[in-house]
Amino acid sequence: MRHLFESRLVNDPFGDPGLYVDFRDERRALLFDLGDIAVLPPRKLLRLSHVFVSHTHMDHFVGFDQLLRVVLGRKSRIVLFGGPGFVAQVEHRLRAYTWNVVHRYTVALVLDVREIGTDGRGQQARFSSRSGFARESGVPFACADDVLHDDVLFRVRGRFVDHEMPCLAFVIEEKARPRVAKDRLAALGVATGPWLRDLKLAILSAAPADTPIHLRWRDQHGEHEMIRSVGELSEIILDVTPGQRIGYVTDLRFSDANRRTLAALIAGVDQLFIESVFLDADREHALRKNHLTARQAGQIAREVGARAVVPFHFSPRYGQRAPEVAAEVRAAWAGPPAPPAAACRSDQAGSDDSRSWTRAML
Ligand SMILES: [Zn+2]
Ligand SMILES: [Zn+2]
Repeated sequence: MRHLFESRLVNDPFGDPGLYVDFRDERRALLFDLGDIAVLPPRKLLRLSHVFVSHTHMDHFVGFDQLLRVVLGRKSRIVLFGGPGFVAQVEHRLRAYTWNVVHRYTVALVLDVREIGTDGRGQQARFSSRSGFARESGVPFACADDVLHDDVLFRVRGRFVDHEMPCLAFVIEEKARPRVAKDRLAALGVATGPWLRDLKLAILSAAPADTPIHLRWRDQHGEHEMIRSVGELSEIILDVTPGQRIGYVTDLRFSDANRRTLAALIAGVDQLFIESVFLDADREHALRKNHLTARQAGQIAREVGARAVVPFHFSPRYGQRAPEVAAEVRAAWAGPPAPPAAACRSDQAGSDDSRSWTRAML
């Protein structure tokens, strides 16, 4: 089934963490974490509407300057989310440069920066290139039901996990998806076109039945146009199915509190991107570093009922051993925890239950 968005890691599993979520028909995208983003071409950075930063360790935030450099003068607005202290940290990054000419740029850039406290209260500020990125404080806000961003088609929710500092774990949730009955479409004498998106948006936003939809499509007879109401067109909608849900979880210790937090946030996700930094043989080291082992990541994926798993944020110490790390995640996710030594030797990635191993596997 065609999904609203497509998610891919920015870098290989040894590279800086980051998830690029592309909205296929919307010419927009979201980015989760802002580490090394050198592989993202300007056209992909220019599509970003919102950037969510889990925490500001360097490997998650060092790409801020690069993003700013690409969008400055070309894009009018971008929204950045982060945890405690985030607004001040963005301000400090901006203050590191001299902005004596940017107010003359034809396209002014506004950075809307929002920070969420561990108590769910948020504060925000706006930095515009028109005023040399001087801070303009906005009104405080509150996050209900973990929702950080709510859009007509999707929402992003976040919760703090413990990484010896608060770190945001995220879930991106596509809202219900109207499915179209092709035969009913034909019976109505119309064909699919970009207008279908307008209809779906109208239905999802509970628009009144008399809301007009401007139908335009092209076939072998040429261009066609007509206007129909949402009420008339609603007959072509077969049903409304649940949307896709994607979890992005990185930089946390393996603790009962973190597992409970994640169980509430990402239960049943269709795809889980989860850090798998160390092999379980090095779990004492993982504990000291406040990171998960591959086995612990797989166990969390299993506990939350993730339908597919993509591990990342592998420690560089494993060099060529990425398949071992991945196999350890999979072993813990797909079945009862195996003895660590056996899990480490396994490098098979078959499919022995209903859950699918991911295409992005190594
Ligand atoms: Zn990290
Ligand atoms: Zn970190």
